[in-house]
Amino acid sequence: MKTRLMIIGVGLILSTFVEGRAESFRNSGLTSTKTEVSNRLVAENLNVVTEDLSEGVKAGLLLMREEEKLAHDLYTAFYDLYEMRIFSNISSSEATHMAAVLLLLNSAGLEDPIKAESGAFNNSELQNAYDKLLNSGKKSLVEALNGGAYVEELDILDLEEQLALTEDESVKSVYSNLLRASRNHLRAFNRVLDNNGVDYKPQLMSQDVFDEIVNGENECGANGNGHGKGHGRGCNK
Ligand code: MN
Ligand code: MN
Repeated sequence: MKTRLMIIGVGLILSTFVEGRAESFRNSGLTSTKTEVSNRLVAENLNVVTEDLSEGVKAGLLLMREEEKLAHDLYTAFYDLYEMRIFSNISSSEATHMAAVLLLLNSAGLEDPIKAESGAFNNSELQNAYDKLLNSGKKSLVEALNGGAYVEELDILDLEEQLALTEDESVKSVYSNLLRASRNHLRAFNRVLDNNGVDYKPQLMSQDVFDEIVNGENECGANGNGHGKGHGRGCNK
């Protein structure tokens, strides 16, 4: 049997929260409230019934749950250091992604791998990556922004790899939306770096693939149909 995700649209839910303009402004202090609301909305609107996922796909769910936490915890730490709104906005988005992957994990009967403590991971590769990225990011704002772009590159490549492993509609729906958000996040970090006079060079993906993403428009909507311009707000969720 196929996994089914009875859902109004993960994309709609993930797009519900307006991304502030990333370049400037300090946080309004509403991040945790926004995150709670995001998680609740995801939980209320998804009715997941999962069966027969392959071992590879299950391993991918465990990986992505912690990888979204890595992004969330790192950006939260960077916001604490630099109080730049891009970090709190995207961190909030990552909390929503964590919640979406958790629903898939639950439906697949898998134990949630994450540790409650911020910056702590069961996956040792992710732990090492987090520690390195945090240490680099502590050195300067530009290093922190570089770290953000790196995480989004990693996320995009891992999600693409995981998407290729499954035809499961639920998993594909969630991953496709996370992928779209990650491309928006990569655009956002690249834009802020550019505003700071930094020409970011992709660290994991090819320059061509990177250029295609950052030169594309922000993507909105559940199926990656971009229509994000002209409304004075982003579609980064
Ligand atoms: Mn994410
Ligand atoms: Mn992201």
